[in-house]
Amino acid sequence: MGRLRRSRTHHAQRDVHRASRTRARTKDLDQIQLIDLDPKNRAALEAQPIDYEKPGLAQHYCVECAKYYESDAALKSHWRSKVHKRQLKQLKEPAYTIEESERAAGLGREGKRPTTSTVPPISTEHDVET
Ligand SMILES: [Zn+2]
Repeated sequence: MGRLRRSRTHHAQRDVHRASRTRARTKDLDQIQLIDLDPKNRAALEAQPIDYEKPGLAQHYCVECAKYYESDAALKSHWRSKVHKRQLKQLKEPAYTIEESERAAGLGREGKRPTTSTVPPISTEHDVET
């Protein structure tokens, strides 16, 4: 029998099952891109008040990844990591917007389908009765 599982499928994720947990879920890319990377929101996120519920008292936060770190050293080493660099690259691409989803569904304006004028009115009730 050949190999059933390809190697290198986990992409620097230690544990794919752990990463898929709801409690490990962070913000979505469009939330980060459209809200958090705004300069004034970013400053507020980087200087958060001490929060005993958050890891590291919410003092070491990576805005791009929307994650808290325990210490300054952990945050700094995270900035050098592959995970963070991949996130930066993904954030450079434009966010998935409602317009794009409508375009994908054929509801966009550039479809230019005749919607009202040229389509003849469909008779329904009369055909059923006679
Ligand atoms: Zn990061």
